[in-house]
Amino acid sequence: MPTYARADVAFERGEGAYLQAEDGSWYLDFGTGIAVTALGHAHPHLVEALTTQAEKLWHVSNLYRIPASERLAERLTANSFGERVFFCNSGVEAFEGAVKIARRYHHSVGNSERYRVITFEQGFHGRSLAGISASSGAKLRAGFEPLTPGFDQVPFNDAEAARAAVTGETAAVMLEPVQGDGGIRPADPQFLREVRRICDEHGLLLIADEIQCGMGRTGALFAHQWAGIRPDVMALAKGMGSGFPVGAVVATLEAAQGMTPGTHGSTFGGNPLAMAVGNAVLDVMLEDGFLANVRTTGARLREELDALARRHPELIRQVRGSGLMLGLQAQGSNLDLVNAFRAEGLLTVPGGDNVVRVLPPLIITDHHIDDGLARMDRACQRLAATEPR
Ligand SMILES: *Cc1c(COP(=O)(O)O)cnc(C)c1O
Repeated sequence: MPTYARADVAFERGEGAYLQAEDGSWYLDFGTGIAVTALGHAHPHLVEALTTQAEKLWHVSNLYRIPASERLAERLTANSFGERVFFCNSGVEAFEGAVKIARRYHHSVGNSERYRVITFEQGFHGRSLAGISASSGAKLRAGFEPLTPGFDQVPFNDAEAARAAVTGETAAVMLEPVQGDGGIRPADPQFLREVRRICDEHGLLLIADEIQCGMGRTGALFAHQWAGIRPDVMALAKGMGSGFPVGAVVATLEAAQGMTPGTHGSTFGGNPLAMAVGNAVLDVMLEDGFLANVRTTGARLREELDALARRHPELIRQVRGSGLMLGLQAQGSNLDLVNAFRAEGLLTVPGGDNVVRVLPPLIITDHHIDDGLARMDRACQRLAATEPR
């Protein structure tokens, strides 16, 4: 189905931060398939984990214990606020699981009337019917009505608007600590702490959608950690399998108390193949110095992008984001920039608010930053030469 406006390029292989197209040309991948291939392409440790597991066992279903999923759940909870984990296969399933946990929590404590979730403008939570109902944007929703009831949207970074939206039917507040599809819009730490306070005051669950900004992307394992807050529920996917489809919902014991046998499920979720890769990704991300390196390279890339924006104010209005989750807000069209970068062999991802998302693999070095910036400079020079003044 023609649901995507695809660029006319097909890739055959990947090595680290680079992709090779069918015609043999190499591209520097600063898009990572939309913040997915966090450890780059064909990472030896992931290839080893996947192929070793592939020869042993792929799938058994959740009718049986899956030791690798127990291990991954233990590691995710040991490194977060969480105490319970549910595994799924994609972001939108993690979102759905998070909303179900919130409704079921209030049901189990005798507040079944609490089912609504406050979400934020420019937010994105996935493409299921509930996902588009929770997300922002007429384009996502047009023709798919009626929407799923139970979502109330308020302006992002506006704690007072969130407070005013709370009613006796509110179950939870859900936000992306850094909005991704909306255009790399970080939540103000003060706003995050205020939302936590609102949730505490009203007995609401705070759900962090970390599907894009989590798993090391901002230089912390989870982006909410920068604000020093603890959500009650967190949705993960994208970078979690570095290209293998796997997602998870992480929750506190308290928040997950309603999730008893039979209340939720997934045929594929947490299967041995996905769990082998998920554990291998964590092996790398939890290594000493990995996240510190994301912070260092992120800061350097940010400096270089700021300098690029100063050289080309006619093309780039603003640089924003954190860690290796950065955005260039375009003066003209973000698509022109994305296309110009791609013509120079650099892949980036368009986002909302006229932004070019710069989402390199978390393993990049100074060499990749230099290469990426050289390509961006060439693209900007060409674009500036053709742009009407
Ligand atoms: C990508 C994304 C989703 C949806 O994930 P899918 O795997 O495409 O279903 C949900 N929330 C956020 C913040 C995302 O970036």
